Amino acid sequence: MKNVGINGYGTIGKRVADAVACQDDMQIVGVTKRTPDFEAQMAVEKGFPLYISAPEREGLFEEADIKVTGTIDDLYNKVDVMVDCTPGGIGAKNKVIYEEKGIKGIFQGGEKHEQIGKSFNSFANYQDNLGTDFVRVVSCNTTGLCRTLQPIDDLCGIKKVRAVMVRRGADPGQIKSGPINAIVPNPPTVPSHHGPDVQTVMYDLNIITMALLVPTTLMHQHNLMVELENPSGVDDVIDTLEATPRVILVEAEKGLGSTAEIMECARDLGRPRSDLFEIAVWKESLNIKDGELFYMQAIHQESDVVPENVDCIRAMLEIEEDPAKSIEKTNKNMGIIG
Ligand code: NAD
Repeated sequence: MKNVGINGYGTIGKRVADAVACQDDMQIVGVTKRTPDFEAQMAVEKGFPLYISAPEREGLFEEADIKVTGTIDDLYNKVDVMVDCTPGGIGAKNKVIYEEKGIKGIFQGGEKHEQIGKSFNSFANYQDNLGTDFVRVVSCNTTGLCRTLQPIDDLCGIKKVRAVMVRRGADPGQIKSGPINAIVPNPPTVPSHHGPDVQTVMYDLNIITMALLVPTTLMHQHNLMVELENPSGVDDVIDTLEATPRVILVEAEKGLGSTAEIMECARDLGRPRSDLFEIAVWKESLNIKDGELFYMQAIHQESDVVPENVDCIRAMLEIEEDPAKSIEKTNKNMGIIG
């Protein structure tokens, strides 16, 4: 049983904690919080040992009557790996501390690849990260792109990808992000950083991306144009995506014609926090014209990277060498059907 710590128990951190806790080869030995808010209280109620990431703020936790097990200095000694889920940019600073303490670290997509050194996606480059000390699980958008592009590349070979990504303006719990009444080219320059981010795990892929921000909180939406080396029939692509773990095909005809309806369906699935860990590809959108494949997909940004973090722990700690076996085990324990 491997010991995992979570530094930063927020949107991603609390989900990774739950996902680790339901595996049988790893356990949560502690989660950290900076602020004694409802998430800190919930962590304690769930039975996760709570550590303060800023020891000078101990008094705030006492005032809030939230019981802590110690400070982050006490947690470093207990973990085989720290999953760093702090806001973007802080993880790279924490990496220096993990190096000093001699512990492994997993970081999230808000960190820069260059500062961490390696990036990870379960489908694209699991085996390149066996035994590695520091690695970054690519962002929610990049995870969504890799989940569908890797199996398509395996089936047909990809000459080049052009993708336009419509990104949510904020997560549902955020009150300070936007826009609330605009469509914002973000960035207004081309390419966006997402294509290069895919290349940190699908190293030779020719991909250029453009991105927009829109006033929605539920999901991101991607529009892909993929030139194929050896175009097959669209039915072969459908069969391949249907057989790909963590990808589901949805149909507008069956009432799933929007991100709102997909998330309503996710609520009906009854999973924790109504999360949809799978990438939802619109079946009707799949089409091949003149050797070019077109499709549209939706990404639940708060949760798609969570199973990848679990697989990343297995790769780094060399618990499992075979990516397919890790993916299957993670999925089974998290109740992922797709
Ligand atoms: P968040 O703000 O929801 O949570 C961050 C947590 O870290 C909070 O609990 C906060 O209290 C804590 N924290 C803040 N400063 C800290 C510090 N100095 N030391 C320790 N803890 C600190 O952020 P998030 O959305 O979970 O994002 C975390 C990482 O995951 C970022 O790199 C982000 O880019 C990435 N990510 C986010 C999403 C998403 O949609 N939210 C999706 C994929 C990846």
